Amino acid sequence: MSQQAFIGPGSLEHVKEILGSHQAKKILLVTGKKSYIESGAKDALDPYLEGSEVIRFSDFTPNPKLEDAQAGISLIDEVQPDIVIAIGGGSVIDMGKLIVILSAQVEKNTEEIVLNQDLVRTKGLPFVAVPTTAGTGSEATHFAVVYIENVKYSLAHDFILPDYAIVDALLTHKVPSPIIASCSMDALTQAIESYWSVGSTEESKAYASRAIRMVLPVLKSLHGGDRRAKEIMAEAAYLAGKAINITKTTAAHAISYPITTYFDVPHGHAVALLLGKFFVIHAETGEEDITDKRGKAHLSEVMSDLFSMFGCDNAQDCCKQWYKTMDEIGLQTDLQIIGIKTDTDVQLIESKISLERLNNNPVKVSPKMLHDLLLVSWNSCS
Ligand code: NAD
Repeated sequence: MSQQAFIGPGSLEHVKEILGSHQAKKILLVTGKKSYIESGAKDALDPYLEGSEVIRFSDFTPNPKLEDAQAGISLIDEVQPDIVIAIGGGSVIDMGKLIVILSAQVEKNTEEIVLNQDLVRTKGLPFVAVPTTAGTGSEATHFAVVYIENVKYSLAHDFILPDYAIVDALLTHKVPSPIIASCSMDALTQAIESYWSVGSTEESKAYASRAIRMVLPVLKSLHGGDRRAKEIMAEAAYLAGKAINITKTTAAHAISYPITTYFDVPHGHAVALLLGKFFVIHAETGEEDITDKRGKAHLSEVMSDLFSMFGCDNAQDCCKQWYKTMDEIGLQTDLQIIGIKTDTDVQLIESKISLERLNNNPVKVSPKMLHDLLLVSWNSCS
Protein backbone atom coordinates (compact mmCIF):
# COMPACT_ATOMS: atom_id res chain seq x y z
CA MET A 1 0.00 0.00 0.00
CA SER A 2 1.28 3.44 -0.79
CA GLN A 3 0.63 6.69 0.99
CA GLN A 4 0.58 10.30 -0.13
CA ALA A 5 2.08 12.60 2.51
CA PHE A 6 1.84 16.37 2.83
CA ILE A 7 4.32 17.83 5.28
CA GLY A 8 4.87 21.37 6.49
CA PRO A 9 3.05 24.28 8.08
CA GLY A 10 -0.21 24.98 6.26
CA SER A 11 -0.32 21.52 4.63
CA LEU A 12 -3.82 21.02 6.06
CA GLU A 13 -5.08 22.88 2.97
CA HIS A 14 -4.52 19.68 0.97
CA VAL A 15 -7.72 18.32 2.55
CA LYS A 16 -9.63 20.27 -0.09
CA GLU A 17 -7.96 18.54 -3.04
CA ILE A 18 -8.16 15.12 -1.34
CA LEU A 19 -11.92 15.55 -0.90
CA GLY A 20 -12.17 16.71 -4.51
CA SER A 21 -10.23 13.74 -5.87
CA HIS A 22 -12.61 11.33 -4.10
CA GLN A 23 -15.68 13.45 -4.92
CA ALA A 24 -16.37 13.14 -1.21
CA LYS A 25 -19.57 14.81 -0.04
CA LYS A 26 -20.14 12.94 3.21
CA ILE A 27 -17.26 12.91 5.70
CA LEU A 28 -16.85 10.99 8.92
CA LEU A 29 -14.59 13.07 11.15
CA VAL A 30 -12.84 11.24 14.01
CA THR A 31 -11.65 13.65 16.71
CA GLY A 32 -10.85 14.02 20.39
CA LYS A 33 -13.72 15.09 22.64
CA LYS A 34 -12.41 18.50 23.74
CA SER A 35 -8.99 18.78 22.09
CA TYR A 36 -10.52 19.14 18.62
CA ILE A 37 -11.79 22.58 19.54
CA GLU A 38 -9.19 23.51 22.18
CA SER A 39 -6.24 22.70 19.91
CA GLY A 40 -7.58 24.99 17.18
CA ALA A 41 -7.95 22.00 14.82
CA LYS A 42 -11.66 22.71 14.27
CA ASP A 43 -11.05 26.33 13.27
CA ALA A 44 -8.21 25.27 10.96
CA LEU A 45 -10.18 22.47 9.27
CA ASP A 46 -13.67 24.01 9.01
CA PRO A 47 -12.97 26.18 5.92
CA TYR A 48 -11.97 23.08 3.92
CA LEU A 49 -15.12 21.18 4.89
CA GLU A 50 -17.58 23.84 3.73
CA GLY A 51 -20.25 22.36 1.50
CA SER A 52 -19.73 18.81 2.82
CA GLU A 53 -21.93 16.86 5.18
CA VAL A 54 -19.81 16.18 8.27
CA ILE A 55 -20.57 13.55 10.92
CA ARG A 56 -18.28 13.65 13.94
CA PHE A 57 -17.24 10.64 16.06
CA SER A 58 -15.48 11.48 19.33
CA ASP A 59 -17.09 9.16 21.85
CA PHE A 60 -13.96 7.38 23.09
CA THR A 61 -11.07 7.92 25.51
CA PRO A 62 -7.30 8.06 24.86
CA ASN A 63 -5.61 4.68 24.20
CA PRO A 64 -8.50 3.21 22.14
CA LYS A 65 -10.56 0.35 23.50
CA LEU A 66 -12.22 -2.15 21.21
CA GLU A 67 -15.63 -1.63 22.82
CA ASP A 68 -15.41 2.10 21.97
CA ALA A 69 -14.54 1.28 18.35
CA GLN A 70 -17.85 -0.59 18.08
CA ALA A 71 -19.85 2.66 18.16
CA GLY A 72 -17.71 4.11 15.37
CA ILE A 73 -18.15 0.97 13.24
CA SER A 74 -21.94 1.21 13.69
CA LEU A 75 -21.80 4.88 12.70
CA ILE A 76 -19.93 4.03 9.47
CA ASP A 77 -22.53 1.33 8.69
CA GLU A 78 -25.33 3.80 9.35
CA VAL A 79 -24.11 6.94 7.54
CA GLN A 80 -22.00 5.33 4.77
CA PRO A 81 -19.46 8.18 4.49
CA ASP A 82 -17.35 8.70 1.35
CA ILE A 83 -14.16 9.27 3.34
CA VAL A 84 -12.88 9.24 6.94
CA ILE A 85 -10.61 11.96 8.35
CA ALA A 86 -9.00 11.40 11.77
CA ILE A 87 -7.57 14.60 13.24
CA GLY A 88 -6.03 14.39 16.71
CA GLY A 89 -3.36 12.63 18.75
CA GLY A 90 -2.21 9.05 18.19
CA SER A 91 -5.29 7.74 20.00
CA VAL A 92 -7.64 9.48 17.55
CA ILE A 93 -5.68 8.31 14.51
CA ASP A 94 -5.64 4.73 15.80
CA MET A 95 -9.38 4.88 16.46
CA GLY A 96 -9.88 6.11 12.88
CA LYS A 97 -7.74 3.26 11.53
CA LEU A 98 -9.66 0.73 13.61
CA ILE A 99 -13.16 1.73 12.59
CA VAL A 100 -12.20 2.05 8.92
CA ILE A 101 -10.60 -1.39 8.70
CA LEU A 102 -12.99 -3.26 11.02
CA SER A 103 -16.12 -1.88 9.35
CA ALA A 104 -14.91 -3.12 5.95
CA GLN A 105 -14.57 -6.81 6.83
CA VAL A 106 -17.01 -9.65 6.17
CA GLU A 107 -16.08 -11.03 9.59
CA LYS A 108 -18.14 -9.02 12.09
CA ASN A 109 -16.51 -10.33 15.27
CA THR A 110 -14.02 -7.51 15.79
CA GLU A 111 -12.10 -9.24 18.58
CA GLU A 112 -11.48 -12.22 16.27
CA ILE A 113 -10.04 -9.83 13.67
CA VAL A 114 -7.74 -8.15 16.20
CA LEU A 115 -6.50 -11.57 17.32
CA ASN A 116 -6.12 -12.88 13.78
CA GLN A 117 -5.16 -10.29 11.18
CA ASP A 118 -5.62 -12.88 8.39
CA LEU A 119 -9.32 -12.10 8.72
CA VAL A 120 -8.59 -8.68 7.19
CA ARG A 121 -9.45 -9.22 3.52
CA THR A 122 -10.75 -5.89 2.28
CA LYS A 123 -9.40 -2.36 2.28
CA GLY A 124 -11.64 0.15 4.04
CA LEU A 125 -12.81 3.63 3.09
CA PRO A 126 -10.31 6.27 1.94
CA PHE A 127 -8.61 7.45 5.14
CA VAL A 128 -6.79 10.70 5.96
CA ALA A 129 -4.64 10.91 9.12
CA VAL A 130 -3.87 14.35 10.53
CA PRO A 131 -1.80 14.32 13.74
CA THR A 132 -2.22 17.16 16.25
CA THR A 133 0.53 15.83 18.53
CA ALA A 134 4.10 15.24 17.33
CA GLY A 135 5.14 11.84 18.56
CA THR A 136 3.40 8.62 17.63
CA GLY A 137 4.00 8.66 13.88
CA SER A 138 0.75 6.67 13.64
CA GLU A 139 0.00 8.61 10.46
CA ALA A 140 2.88 6.70 8.83
CA THR A 141 2.27 3.15 10.11
CA HIS A 142 0.17 0.15 9.15
CA PHE A 143 -0.70 -0.72 12.76
CA ALA A 144 -3.50 0.36 15.07
CA VAL A 145 -3.05 0.05 18.82
CA VAL A 146 -6.16 -1.21 20.59
CA TYR A 147 -6.83 -2.35 24.14
CA ILE A 148 -9.03 -5.33 24.98
CA GLU A 149 -9.58 -5.79 28.73
CA ASN A 150 -6.50 -3.74 29.56
CA VAL A 151 -4.23 -5.75 27.28
CA LYS A 152 -2.65 -3.86 24.40
CA TYR A 153 -2.86 -5.35 20.91
CA SER A 154 -1.55 -3.99 17.66
CA LEU A 155 -3.65 -4.84 14.65
CA ALA A 156 -1.28 -4.83 11.68
CA HIS A 157 -2.14 -4.95 8.01
CA ASP A 158 -0.99 -3.13 4.88
CA PHE A 159 -4.59 -1.95 4.38
CA ILE A 160 -4.35 0.00 7.67
CA LEU A 161 -1.70 2.44 6.38
CA PRO A 162 -3.56 5.76 5.95
CA ASP A 163 -4.02 6.72 2.30
CA TYR A 164 -3.03 10.28 3.18
CA ALA A 165 -0.91 11.75 5.98
CA ILE A 166 -1.07 15.48 6.59
CA VAL A 167 1.65 16.64 8.98
CA ASP A 168 0.96 20.28 9.73
CA ALA A 169 2.92 21.48 12.76
CA LEU A 170 0.57 24.49 13.14
CA LEU A 171 -1.89 22.02 14.69
CA THR A 172 0.56 21.15 17.49
CA HIS A 173 1.07 24.69 18.79
CA LYS A 174 -1.37 24.44 21.69
CA VAL A 175 -0.21 21.06 23.03
CA PRO A 176 0.51 21.47 26.76
CA SER A 177 4.11 20.98 27.90
CA PRO A 178 3.67 17.59 29.67
CA ILE A 179 2.08 16.12 26.52
CA ILE A 180 4.87 17.61 24.36
CA ALA A 181 7.44 15.95 26.61
CA SER A 182 5.79 12.54 26.45
CA CYS A 183 5.13 12.72 22.69
CA SER A 184 8.65 13.84 21.80
CA MET A 185 10.02 10.91 23.80
CA ASP A 186 7.63 8.58 21.96
CA ALA A 187 9.11 9.67 18.63
CA LEU A 188 12.69 9.51 19.90
CA THR A 189 12.28 6.07 21.51
CA GLN A 190 10.59 4.74 18.37
CA ALA A 191 13.49 5.92 16.23
CA ILE A 192 16.09 4.46 18.62
CA GLU A 193 14.26 1.14 19.00
CA SER A 194 13.81 0.92 15.24
CA TYR A 195 17.54 1.53 14.80
CA TRP A 196 18.48 -1.42 17.05
CA SER A 197 15.52 -3.68 16.15
CA VAL A 198 16.27 -7.18 14.82
CA GLY A 199 14.18 -6.18 11.79
CA SER A 200 16.20 -3.09 10.86
CA THR A 201 17.10 -2.52 7.21
CA GLU A 202 19.20 0.14 5.52
CA GLU A 203 15.97 2.00 4.68
CA SER A 204 14.56 1.87 8.24
CA LYS A 205 17.92 2.93 9.69
CA ALA A 206 18.02 5.92 7.35
CA TYR A 207 14.56 7.08 8.53
CA ALA A 208 15.42 6.39 12.18
CA SER A 209 18.78 8.16 12.19
CA ARG A 210 17.30 11.19 10.43
CA ALA A 211 14.56 11.33 13.07
CA ILE A 212 17.05 11.03 15.97
CA ARG A 213 19.33 13.72 14.54
CA MET A 214 16.31 16.02 14.08
CA VAL A 215 14.77 15.48 17.54
CA LEU A 216 17.86 15.73 19.78
CA PRO A 217 18.70 19.40 19.14
CA VAL A 218 15.08 20.60 19.55
CA LEU A 219 13.90 18.53 22.55
CA LYS A 220 14.19 21.40 25.01
CA SER A 221 13.15 24.31 22.76
CA LEU A 222 9.85 22.56 21.94
CA HIS A 223 8.46 23.69 25.27
CA GLY A 224 8.55 27.39 24.40
CA GLY A 225 7.03 29.12 21.42
CA ASP A 226 9.77 28.00 19.00
CA ARG A 227 7.79 27.39 15.81
CA ARG A 228 10.71 25.95 13.86
CA ALA A 229 11.38 23.40 16.64
CA LYS A 230 7.74 22.26 16.43
CA GLU A 231 7.99 21.88 12.64
CA ILE A 232 11.14 19.80 12.98
CA MET A 233 9.53 17.66 15.68
CA ALA A 234 6.39 17.00 13.63
CA GLU A 235 8.44 15.84 10.64
CA ALA A 236 10.79 13.78 12.83
CA ALA A 237 7.80 12.00 14.40
CA TYR A 238 6.55 11.15 10.92
CA LEU A 239 10.00 9.77 9.97
CA ALA A 240 10.18 7.74 13.18
CA GLY A 241 6.76 6.37 12.23
CA LYS A 242 8.12 5.36 8.81
CA ALA A 243 11.05 3.63 10.55
CA ILE A 244 8.84 1.55 12.88
CA ASN A 245 6.47 0.85 10.02
CA ILE A 246 9.32 -1.35 8.72
CA THR A 247 10.79 -2.70 11.96
CA LYS A 248 8.16 -2.33 14.72
CA THR A 249 9.35 -1.41 18.21
CA THR A 250 11.29 -3.46 20.78
CA ALA A 251 11.54 -4.23 24.51
CA ALA A 252 11.16 -0.74 25.98
CA HIS A 253 7.83 -0.36 24.17
CA ALA A 254 6.77 -3.92 25.05
CA ILE A 255 7.31 -3.33 28.77
CA SER A 256 5.82 0.16 28.71
CA TYR A 257 2.22 -0.76 27.85
CA PRO A 258 1.23 -2.18 31.26
CA ILE A 259 3.01 0.79 32.90
CA THR A 260 0.65 3.07 30.97
CA THR A 261 -2.39 0.96 31.82
CA TYR A 262 -1.78 0.19 35.49
CA PHE A 263 0.39 3.12 36.64
CA ASP A 264 -1.28 5.81 34.54
CA VAL A 265 1.89 7.01 32.82
CA PRO A 266 1.44 8.58 29.33
CA HIS A 267 2.71 6.36 26.53
CA GLY A 268 5.94 8.15 25.50
CA HIS A 269 6.90 8.81 29.11
CA ALA A 270 6.38 5.14 30.01
CA VAL A 271 8.69 4.01 27.20
CA ALA A 272 11.33 6.60 28.07
CA LEU A 273 11.46 5.35 31.68
CA LEU A 274 12.98 2.10 30.40
CA LEU A 275 14.82 3.03 27.26
CA GLY A 276 17.97 4.57 28.81
CA LYS A 277 18.75 1.29 30.54
CA PHE A 278 18.75 -0.56 27.22
CA PHE A 279 21.76 1.47 26.06
CA VAL A 280 23.68 -0.38 28.75
CA ILE A 281 22.01 -3.78 28.29
CA HIS A 282 22.57 -3.79 24.54
CA ALA A 283 26.16 -2.62 24.76
CA GLU A 284 27.18 -5.04 27.52
CA THR A 285 25.36 -8.29 26.63
CA GLY A 286 27.51 -11.16 25.39
CA GLU A 287 27.02 -13.06 22.11
CA GLU A 288 25.01 -15.88 23.75
CA ASP A 289 22.08 -13.59 24.64
CA ILE A 290 21.95 -11.66 21.38
CA THR A 291 18.87 -12.53 19.34
CA ASP A 292 19.73 -10.51 16.23
CA LYS A 293 21.00 -13.03 13.67
CA ARG A 294 23.61 -10.48 12.57
CA GLY A 295 25.37 -11.10 15.92
CA LYS A 296 27.42 -9.13 18.43
CA ALA A 297 29.57 -7.31 15.86
CA HIS A 298 26.46 -5.90 14.19
CA LEU A 299 24.88 -4.83 17.48
CA SER A 300 28.14 -3.20 18.62
CA GLU A 301 28.22 -1.20 15.40
CA VAL A 302 24.57 -0.17 15.86
CA MET A 303 25.22 0.93 19.43
CA SER A 304 28.32 2.85 18.48
CA ASP A 305 26.31 4.67 15.74
CA LEU A 306 23.76 5.62 18.40
CA PHE A 307 26.44 6.81 20.84
CA SER A 308 27.83 9.04 18.13
CA MET A 309 24.32 10.46 17.33
CA PHE A 310 23.96 11.27 21.04
CA GLY A 311 27.50 12.66 21.26
CA CYS A 312 28.40 10.34 24.14
CA ASP A 313 31.45 8.12 24.60
CA ASN A 314 29.84 4.93 25.87
CA ALA A 315 26.64 3.25 27.10
CA GLN A 316 26.90 4.55 30.66
CA ASP A 317 27.27 8.12 29.40
CA CYS A 318 24.30 7.72 27.07
CA CYS A 319 22.20 6.25 29.87
CA LYS A 320 23.09 9.13 32.22
CA GLN A 321 22.42 11.69 29.50
CA TRP A 322 19.05 10.05 28.80
CA TYR A 323 17.69 10.38 32.34
CA LYS A 324 19.19 13.86 32.73
CA THR A 325 17.31 14.96 29.59
CA MET A 326 14.07 13.44 30.89
CA ASP A 327 14.54 15.38 34.09
CA GLU A 328 15.18 18.60 32.15
CA ILE A 329 11.95 18.28 30.16
CA GLY A 330 9.94 17.57 33.29
CA LEU A 331 9.49 13.79 33.10
CA GLN A 332 9.70 11.82 36.34
CA THR A 333 12.46 9.19 36.12
CA ASP A 334 12.00 7.42 39.46
CA LEU A 335 10.00 4.22 39.06
CA GLN A 336 9.30 4.08 42.81
CA ILE A 337 7.64 7.51 42.69
CA ILE A 338 5.67 6.30 39.66
CA GLY A 339 4.41 3.48 41.91
CA ILE A 340 6.44 0.43 40.83
CA LYS A 341 7.74 -0.77 44.16
CA THR A 342 7.16 -4.45 44.80
CA ASP A 343 7.58 -7.89 43.24
CA THR A 344 3.80 -7.93 42.81
CA ASP A 345 4.03 -4.78 40.65
CA VAL A 346 6.73 -6.42 38.52
CA GLN A 347 4.65 -9.59 38.17
CA LEU A 348 1.66 -7.55 37.03
CA ILE A 349 3.76 -5.78 34.39
CA GLU A 350 5.40 -9.05 33.32
CA SER A 351 2.03 -10.77 32.87
CA LYS A 352 0.83 -8.09 30.43
CA ILE A 353 3.95 -7.56 28.32
CA SER A 354 3.61 -7.65 24.53
CA LEU A 355 5.70 -10.71 23.62
CA GLU A 356 5.71 -9.86 19.93
CA ARG A 357 7.51 -6.56 20.56
CA LEU A 358 9.83 -8.24 23.07
CA ASN A 359 10.95 -10.66 20.36
CA ASN A 360 12.05 -7.72 18.18
CA ASN A 361 14.65 -6.81 20.77
CA PRO A 362 18.26 -7.54 19.77
CA VAL A 363 18.96 -8.98 23.24
CA LYS A 364 16.96 -11.63 25.14
CA VAL A 365 14.99 -10.12 28.04
CA SER A 366 15.02 -12.56 30.98
CA PRO A 367 12.70 -12.37 34.01
CA LYS A 368 15.77 -11.45 36.11
CA MET A 369 16.60 -8.58 33.73
CA LEU A 370 13.03 -7.36 33.90
CA HIS A 371 13.06 -7.48 37.68
CA ASP A 372 16.30 -5.47 37.81
CA LEU A 373 15.05 -2.99 35.21
CA LEU A 374 11.94 -2.25 37.22
CA LEU A 375 13.09 -2.53 40.81
CA VAL A 376 16.81 -1.79 41.03
CA SER A 377 17.59 1.90 40.81
CA TRP A 378 19.36 2.41 37.51
CA ASN A 379 18.76 6.09 37.17
CA SER A 380 22.34 6.83 38.13
CA CYS A 381 23.41 4.32 35.44
CA SER A 382 26.34 3.37 37.62
P1 NAD B 1 -3.23 10.96 22.72
O1 NAD B 1 -3.74 10.88 21.34
O2 NAD B 1 -3.72 9.94 23.69
O3 NAD B 1 -3.51 12.43 23.26
C1 NAD B 1 -3.04 12.82 24.54
C2 NAD B 1 -3.84 14.03 24.99
O4 NAD B 1 -3.51 15.16 24.19
C3 NAD B 1 -5.34 13.84 24.85
O5 NAD B 1 -5.98 14.30 26.02
C4 NAD B 1 -5.69 14.70 23.64
O6 NAD B 1 -7.02 15.16 23.73
C5 NAD B 1 -4.69 15.84 23.77
N1 NAD B 1 -4.34 16.52 22.52
C6 NAD B 1 -4.11 15.97 21.30
N2 NAD B 1 -3.74 16.94 20.42
C7 NAD B 1 -3.74 18.11 21.09
C8 NAD B 1 -3.45 19.48 20.72
N3 NAD B 1 -3.04 19.81 19.50
N4 NAD B 1 -3.55 20.41 21.69
C9 NAD B 1 -3.93 20.10 22.94
N5 NAD B 1 -4.21 18.83 23.36
C10 NAD B 1 -4.12 17.86 22.44
O7 NAD B 1 -1.64 10.93 22.77
P2 NAD B 1 -0.56 10.52 21.71
O8 NAD B 1 0.70 10.42 22.46
O9 NAD B 1 -0.60 11.38 20.51
O10 NAD B 1 -1.03 9.04 21.26
C11 NAD B 1 -0.85 7.95 22.13
C12 NAD B 1 -1.49 6.71 21.54
O11 NAD B 1 -0.91 6.41 20.25
C13 NAD B 1 -1.26 5.48 22.41
O12 NAD B 1 -2.46 4.72 22.46
C14 NAD B 1 -0.18 4.72 21.66
O13 NAD B 1 -0.19 3.34 21.95
C15 NAD B 1 -0.57 5.03 20.22
N6 NAD B 1 0.52 4.84 19.26
C16 NAD B 1 0.19 4.32 18.06
C17 NAD B 1 1.17 4.11 17.10
C18 NAD B 1 0.80 3.50 15.78
O14 NAD B 1 1.67 3.36 14.92
N7 NAD B 1 -0.44 3.14 15.56
C19 NAD B 1 2.50 4.45 17.36
C20 NAD B 1 2.80 5.00 18.60
C21 NAD B 1 1.81 5.20 19.55
